[in-house]
Amino acid sequence: MRREPLTDRLGRTHTYLRISVTDRCNYRCVYCMPPEGLSWRPRADLLTFEEIARLVGVFAQMGVRKVRLTGGEPTVRADIKSLIAGIARCEGIVDVAMTTNGHTLAKLAPALAEAGLRRINVSVDTLKADRFKSLTRGGDLDRVLAGIEAARAAGIGPVKINAVLLRDENEDELFDLVDYFARWPHDTELRFIEYMPFGSRWHKSIPSAELRKRLATRFTITRAGGATTSDGPAQRWKLAENGLGVGFISPLTEHFCATCNRLRLMCDGHLRTCLAHDDTPSLRDILRNGATDDQLEQAIRDMVYAKPDGHEAMLEGGTNFEGVMTAIGG
Ligand code: SAM
Ligand code: SF4
Repeated sequence: MRREPLTDRLGRTHTYLRISVTDRCNYRCVYCMPPEGLSWRPRADLLTFEEIARLVGVFAQMGVRKVRLTGGEPTVRADIKSLIAGIARCEGIVDVAMTTNGHTLAKLAPALAEAGLRRINVSVDTLKADRFKSLTRGGDLDRVLAGIEAARAAGIGPVKINAVLLRDENEDELFDLVDYFARWPHDTELRFIEYMPFGSRWHKSIPSAELRKRLATRFTITRAGGATTSDGPAQRWKLAENGLGVGFISPLTEHFCATCNRLRLMCDGHLRTCLAHDDTPSLRDILRNGATDDQLEQAIRDMVYAKPDGHEAMLEGGTNFEGVMTAIGG
C-alpha cells in the first residue's frame, strides 16, 4: 500500500471490498427476487470489467486486500474469469473470492481457479431437491452439489455454504444441513444468514441466537474465535461432536457495525459504505467523466469518511433495507 489506509471518521479501516458484478440471476430465490425477476439495469449502466479492475486498483492502493465477487449471480456475466484475472493481477490484492449459487460451477470451476479464484461461498438452503427447486424457483440441487465438488477438485477452497433459514419454510432442515456438511472435508463451514427484509418481500427471520440454542440441544457449541477478517461478519462457532465449523451472519440481531471493514461496489458503480444506506454518488459517473486515479481516490475517501455509524434494521415490522440485494451485492 502506497497511501494512507481507508479509514472513516470512527476509525474503522476498510480492507474488504464486495463487488456486485451484475443484478441478473439464473435463479429466483423466493427471499431475494420476485418470480418475474427484477427490472435489470441496462447493460450500459453496469461497470465494465476494465472499470471494475481500475477501481479495484485504486482501492488496493488504499489498503483493500480482499475482494469478493457477488451479485446477482456473478457467473451469469459473460467471461467472468477475465474479470477475476484482472482483479487478481492488481497489486496488493491477496484474496479473490466469489459467492455463487453454484449452478454453472461444474463447467466453470477449472477456468475460474486458473484465473485466480481462491475461495467460494455457495448457497444451499435446503437438501430436498423439490424444495430446492421451489425455493430457488427452478434450481437444481444435484447440479449445485456437483459444482461444489468440481470447484474443490480445481483447488478452490475452503468452501463455505450459505444457508438462509426461514421460519415455517426450511427451518426444519437445521440438523439435516449440519449432519450433511459435517461429512464434507473438515474445512467446510456452514454459515447461517439471517433473512433481511429487502423491498416488500416479507418472510420471517430466525434470530441466530435461536439457531444456536436449537443446535445446543444436540451439540456442544463453542465460539471459534471472533469474526473472520477474511470473510466479513460471520461469527464462527464449532460443533464439538462432529467438528463442523458453523458461522452466523446476523445483520438484524447482532450488529457487527462497530467493526465493519467492508465496502460494497454496486453493479452500477455506486459505492455503498453501509449495506443499509443508499447514500452515495456513483463512482462510474466520476470515472466516465474522465477522473484521474487521484480524483477517484479522493471521492472514495470522502464517501468512506462519511460512512454511517451503523444501521437499525429490526426483525419484524422494522424498517426495510433500501434498494435491491442483487444490485448491492449480497
Ligand atoms: N447469487 C449468489 C448466491 O445466491 O450465492 C450471490 C448473490 S446472493 C444475493 C448472496 C447471498 O445473499 C446468498 O447466500 C443469499 O442466500 C443471500 N440472500 C439473498 N437475499 C437475502 C435476504 N433477503 N436476506 C438474507 N440473505 C439473502
Ligand atoms: Fe439469485 Fe443468489 Fe438472489 Fe438466489 S440469492 S435469486 S441465486 S442472486
